[in-house]
Amino acid sequence: MSPPTGDTFHQAGVGEPDGLDRLWTPHRMAYIQGENKPVDASAGECPFCRIPSLGDAEGLVVRRGQTAYAVLNLYPYSPGHLMVCPYRHVADYTDTTDAEAVEIATLTRAAMRTIRAVSGAHGFNLGTNQGADAGAGIAAHLHQHVVPRWAGDQNFMPIIGRTKTLPELLSDTRALLAEAWKDS
Ligand SMILES: [Zn+2]
Repeated sequence: MSPPTGDTFHQAGVGEPDGLDRLWTPHRMAYIQGENKPVDASAGECPFCRIPSLGDAEGLVVRRGQTAYAVLNLYPYSPGHLMVCPYRHVADYTDTTDAEAVEIATLTRAAMRTIRAVSGAHGFNLGTNQGADAGAGIAAHLHQHVVPRWAGDQNFMPIIGRTKTLPELLSDTRALLAEAWKDS
């Protein structure tokens, strides 16, 4: 994509704010305008339900399956941090149908392969926070995090500056992963 023309770049998307500021190194003044957290647990307030109705680039959707989809996290812990979730507004992993559980696993596997192919990630953290008390920012809609890791990626910056440095804009990352994605 072309660089934003103004000082502020508005990016729709979904994620869980963590209080960390982020430096967007390609365009120093490009900031992410965050989603507000849902006011209640209903599907109408749910960003994970809303995102699939947006275009891929607008919503940062990387891959759409039959029952589940993969979307970049608007507040990534590392470049390529995405989430795999069912289209259905279900909170708990045990509420998934067999088809959803299988497709969440299949998309997670493909996401790892894709991220590895394009970025050479050294490792991954995979996981779901089940319930607000377990750390889920948007607890009402199940989402599995896929967080690529590199040796030395957690340096002093998040601790000292409460800032993470990210080498790519999210829209560039999304396009890269969507282009490279292979289902097998
Ligand atoms: Zn939802």
